[in-house]
Amino acid sequence: MASGDQKQKNVTAVQAMLSVLKANPGTNAAPLKDTYSLAKASPERGRWYFVATCSGCKRDTPLFEDTTGGSVGNPFTGSGGFRVPCYHCGKEVRASPGDVQPVLWQL
Ligand SMILES: [Zn+2]
Repeated sequence: MASGDQKQKNVTAVQAMLSVLKANPGTNAAPLKDTYSLAKASPERGRWYFVATCSGCKRDTPLFEDTTGGSVGNPFTGSGGFRVPCYHCGKEVRASPGDVQPVLWQL
């Protein structure tokens, strides 16, 4: 089990990947080799987040902030993924790269 500190570091790491993408137009893939356990997001209305659908409550739950503002679509590829507690029901959400989408948070 990843510690809380490590989960926060993982959020920082994936956001660093996004910064690289943003700084290098034409590079639009972020391959994931590992599964990142992430700290639970605290989304704010009007900001962009990568989300995945929770298998428990079937709602979209935020994984982490999309600091590109939706401009890179879903850049994640590879055999890794993300794990995060569902924002709505608390169940652990496991997301493969193909499950992720950028959403403007409206709640
Ligand atoms: Zn849920």
